[in-house]
Order: sequence, then C-alpha cells, then structure tokens
Amino acid sequence: MNVYELIKKKRDGFELSKTEIRFLIDEFVAGQIPDYQMTAFLMAVYFKGMTDRECVELTMAMANSGDRVDLSAIEGFKVDKHSTGGVGDKTTLVLAPLVAAGGGIVPKMTGRELGHTGGTVDKLESIPGLQTVLSKEKFIEVVNDIHVCLIAQTASLAPADKKIYALRNATATVDSIPLIAASILSKKLAAGSDGIVLDVKTGRGAFTPSYDDALELAKTMVKIGEGAGRRVVALVTGMEQPLGRAIGNAIEVKEAVQTLRGHGPGDLVELVTQLGSDMLLESNLAPSRKEAQSIIAENIANRNGLNRLLELVAAQGGDPSVLANTDLLLQPREKIEVKSETTGYVTAINALEVGLASKMLGAGRNNNEDSLDHSNGIYLEKKIGDKVAAGDPLAVFYSDGDEEKINAAREKFLAAYSYSPNRVDPPKLIHARVTKDGIEEF
Ligand code: URA
Repeated sequence: MNVYELIKKKRDGFELSKTEIRFLIDEFVAGQIPDYQMTAFLMAVYFKGMTDRECVELTMAMANSGDRVDLSAIEGFKVDKHSTGGVGDKTTLVLAPLVAAGGGIVPKMTGRELGHTGGTVDKLESIPGLQTVLSKEKFIEVVNDIHVCLIAQTASLAPADKKIYALRNATATVDSIPLIAASILSKKLAAGSDGIVLDVKTGRGAFTPSYDDALELAKTMVKIGEGAGRRVVALVTGMEQPLGRAIGNAIEVKEAVQTLRGHGPGDLVELVTQLGSDMLLESNLAPSRKEAQSIIAENIANRNGLNRLLELVAAQGGDPSVLANTDLLLQPREKIEVKSETTGYVTAINALEVGLASKMLGAGRNNNEDSLDHSNGIYLEKKIGDKVAAGDPLAVFYSDGDEEKINAAREKFLAAYSYSPNRVDPPKLIHARVTKDGIEEF
C-alpha cells in the first residue's frame, strides 16, 4: 500500500477501506510513516471529514494500537466517564466516588491537561503522596475493594492517539469531529469498561464551541461506542463559563471536597447529578432517573461520597487528612484580589481565556516538559448573572508572586469578562442527552 495514494484519496474526498486505515495507523505507530505524511493525512481528514464507517475503523485501529485493559477480574458492570475537556472541570473527583457510593463500579483511567483545559491526573497529584501510576494488580485490587480507582492512562493505552494527538496539537487539526471522536473513544474502548458516559462540552471553553458540532460529536461517539458493544450515553453540556468557581489543581480539589460535603456550586452539583444518574442507570442500579438522582443526592447528604473519596486517597497512597481538613492542602505563596473595572451585570466569561490566564499563573504547562505549580490558579468571585460594581473583587489569583505572570494573567482575565447594564440569567448547563435511541434536547 502506498501512503501517498492514501493521502491523495482522502484529500480528494474518497472513502478509505478498513485495510487502508489499519495500514496507516499500524505503520505510523511502528515508525514506518513519517510525521509529515501523517500530518498531511490528518489535514485531509480535517477538511474532508470521514464517513461513519471510516470513523469506526479509525477508532478501532487506534484502540488496538496498544494494550487493551482486561477488567474481567472485576465482577459486575464497570462504568466510565469522559469529558471532552473543560475549565474548572473537577467533575470526576466528585462523580467517581459518588457513583461508587451508590453501588457503581468505576475503574477509571484519566488524563492530564490538554490545551487550555485541566486534567484530573494533575488535580489528583496535588494530594500529597497520592499515586496515579499503579500496577494493574493494585488497580484491580483497589476497584474490587472500594469500587473506584483513578489512575493515569498508561503509555501503552492507545499509543496511536498519543502520537497523533501530538501532531494535531502542533498542526491545527485538533478541532475535527472524527479525529476527536476517534481519539476519545479509542482510549475509552481500550480501557475496558462496559458502560461509558460522555460529557461533550459546548461553548467558548470547549474544543467544539458550536452546539451543532458538539451534538454531532456526541452522536458520532454514541454510534461508535454502541457499535463496539458498549452502553454509551452522551450529555452535551455548557462550557460558556468555567464550571464552579475554582480553576487550578489543589484549589479544584478543595471545591470538589466542598461539593461532597454538600456545599458545592450549583452548576457543578447539577452536572454531577446528571452524569451520575446516567452512570447509575447504565449500571442498572436505579429503576428511574428520578431515583438515580436521589441516590446521588443521598450520598452527598450522608457523606458517603466524601468518605469514598477519602478511602480512594488512602488506597492510592495519599494523605486523606488534607481532604478532611482542606486548609492542609497546598497553599499558594500569595492570594491577590482582582477587581472589576466595570459596573454592571456579568453577561459572559470566556472560559478559554480564563483557562489560559490560570495557566499563565503557573497552574498549567506550556509544554510537556514543564512542571506546574499545584497551588496556583483562580477563584471566581463573580459568575454570569452576578451584579458587580467597579472596584468589587471579580476573582482571587492563587499565585507564586511573580509580578510578570500576575500582570499578564490579570490582563487576559479582565478581558474575558463582558458586562451589561441589564440583568441576564446564567447560561443553560445541560443542552442535550444523546443515546442510541435518539436525542433529547433541553
Ligand atoms: N480529548 C481527547 O482525548 N482527544 C481529543 O482529540 C480532544 C479532547
């Protein structure tokens, strides 16, 4: 097979066969196809798209490019969750222990930050001692014991995605629906769970900002996942503004703990309730959505979700006392109030820009070799719909005190806010639920 001919075929809008797609992925992972040819192929996909059949073949070829996790030593229905990436999205830290406390089994592999969005592994690593790299045996032992474990994706899980993602990141081909769908589902299918609940973000902080694209991505992923024999539900949810109020790592862990204590921000609680009820329903642990939602609420109220998170931290080598008393979590060198320069109602907070401002403060990396400061980030005092007067605090920066970083982040952060003299309602959070049976829009 000739790589040049395959690139040309896609460039000219023709459909590739299963054998051709497998050849491209296998040979690329084996180092037989140079980056420049794979990049040209990815750009051709970006412009020409893929048919459903091609997208399934690409996903399966990528899922089969490395190890597939065998979860057969864990009894029962295993359920996973994945977000396409958001700002302030600490959902997994709240959701996974709550679903486990409600009877679900959540063996979850999770990722690091991607672009302007945060990663659960980085957040977990702000808990002293906590290990996100465990042996397969230990992973299974923890899940069998407490029904939840959160570990970092291993290098051998869908290595094709790792290599392809790096190219996409450098060549403006991340925001392609078939490429995002194959990237996410190849990892989820290789990670072995029976059920998958997807949180597909829409809005300015999402990789698919337009609602139509997010819905298309949700439909594509449900189709591929169901075709591969998994139960898949996707929610399309808003990333018009950051989720909750905390953006960073230790600061997000603190907000997750507060949420499990029953004092979480409304949007985070709503998202966790919706995703959690879908995870419980997929696992056949509730007869109706209403009852599934009650299970989530009960496990917040009785603190079983919080206790399960403490057990998880201890089982993974971390120090649970920092969650019992979150003042013991890593603290920044300085906390700096950022004041509004405008009077009015907040009408928009560009989540993408806020994510970038948080990275500027040191909460994220500029390249894979960088280290990040787990104590840095941003706490939002004002969100969409809030009234603000000039001079009121808009946010608190958690910072290492570096003036240059603070000034650059402040400028970006202030520009992310829009105001109006008239009151506006907070934006819709849950836009749609996509299942194999159809689309429910809200
Ligand atoms: N998350 C992924 O894992 N892959 C993408 O392509 C986009 C978001």
